[in-house]
Amino acid sequence: MKTLHTINFSDTAIAFASKTTKELKHMRFLFRTMAWSKITNISVSFLKFALKHQFPIKNIIRKTLFNQFCGGETYWECGKTMDKLFEKGICSIPDYSVEGKEDEASFNKTAKELIKGIEMAAGLPMVSFSVFKMTGIARFALLEKIQKNEQLSPTEITAFIHVKERLTRLCFEAETHNVRLMVDAEESWIQTTIDEMCVEFMKRFNKHKPVLFFTIQLYRKDGLNRLKKMYADAQQNDYHVGFKLVRGAYMEKERERATKLQYSSPINDSKEATDALYDEAVSFCLKEDIATCVATHNQLSIEKAIREMDPKDIQISSFAQLYGMGDFLSYNLAHAGFKVSKYLPYGPLHEVMPYLFRRAEENKSLTGETTRELGFIEKELKRRGRV
Ligand SMILES: Cc1cc2nc3c(=O)[nH]c(=O)nc-3n(C[C@H](O)[C@H](O)[C@H](O)COP(=O)(O)OP(=O)(O)OC[C@H]3O[C@@H](n4cnc5c(N)ncnc54)[C@H](O)[C@@H]3O)c2cc1C
Repeated sequence: MKTLHTINFSDTAIAFASKTTKELKHMRFLFRTMAWSKITNISVSFLKFALKHQFPIKNIIRKTLFNQFCGGETYWECGKTMDKLFEKGICSIPDYSVEGKEDEASFNKTAKELIKGIEMAAGLPMVSFSVFKMTGIARFALLEKIQKNEQLSPTEITAFIHVKERLTRLCFEAETHNVRLMVDAEESWIQTTIDEMCVEFMKRFNKHKPVLFFTIQLYRKDGLNRLKKMYADAQQNDYHVGFKLVRGAYMEKERERATKLQYSSPINDSKEATDALYDEAVSFCLKEDIATCVATHNQLSIEKAIREMDPKDIQISSFAQLYGMGDFLSYNLAHAGFKVSKYLPYGPLHEVMPYLFRRAEENKSLTGETTRELGFIEKELKRRGRV
């Protein structure tokens, strides 16, 4: 049986076995640079300006942020990375990371790309899930308006019908090709609309097994209650649920909006409260035998989950980290025999920039995750005698 005793997350030889020393030095440079928040702020501003004015900087971005955090520009280009991860027992979750589009043509293009991804994933053991963001196939403002219960114009009604058509097609393709489909969680002021659509589609497509997986953010005060409510609904109406559990990515934005519009913030008041809720959600899912993806870079949460797992949980539950981050977790988990995946973002370079800027922002303080990541890279370089 796999237990915590079989894993040593500090084993950098395992964590970086697939990286050459040159690649590791490159990673060290990147993480050191990103950790310098002033440099990151200036670089991100410069890159945004340079891209807007079409300066020839794509190669610089490709060799730095893009190669670290993305699998390629197309699904095909991700193939090599997927193979490399799978050699070490890690599956991929290819993530078409084009964001911020607002027109029907782009939504159709994204849906087409997602369907292509589902078709490619069919029967591929190295792909554990397909994934999408609802705002990749629907206009943010439309989802927000529905959540506010405002009257939709005829054009908006048609647009919403198109969103549901795209979603139907995605779920249908996923079901037909036996590919599990994950939907990401987003900002709270559109999330209720996403919740409602997902429940409607889980009822339709999750009759026999979880096809559509739903994401719950546990930085939300109501995160655990929403999870329990969805599970109860599934029990009552005889369909399956599958959850991806995350802490949540939009904390600052959520708090700023709540302050500005003077409503009570939906986000927990402290990191400790989020951690406790996250671990409680994992425990609940394990206890109820719910198919769950524990998507986190938090080592303590992973260790706690493993302690509570029994052999059947290992069959239905899995862990996930983002490509380019948390390698010490992913590779050591896979080495110990746990199911683990990497979110593998891809898309045309200029279109995945919002995603890359988010990663740079996330790594720009010399605390927590970045320090640990950097520490492990340095430890491995020292071990190889290449400081
Ligand atoms: C595979 C994968 C998929 C993901 N998908 C999504 C998604 O669909 N939607 C989404 O929103 N995010 C998603 N994320 C991002 C995720 O929500 C977190 O932002 C990120 O993983 C950091 O949290 P952590 O659990 O890894 O670790 P930690 O570093 O332990 O936690 C950091 C997180 O804790 C919370 N937090 C920090 N400080 C406070 C505070 N003072 N008070 C309350 N809470 C606090 C925030 O959520 C912060 O992001 C995903 C992450 C992964 C690894």
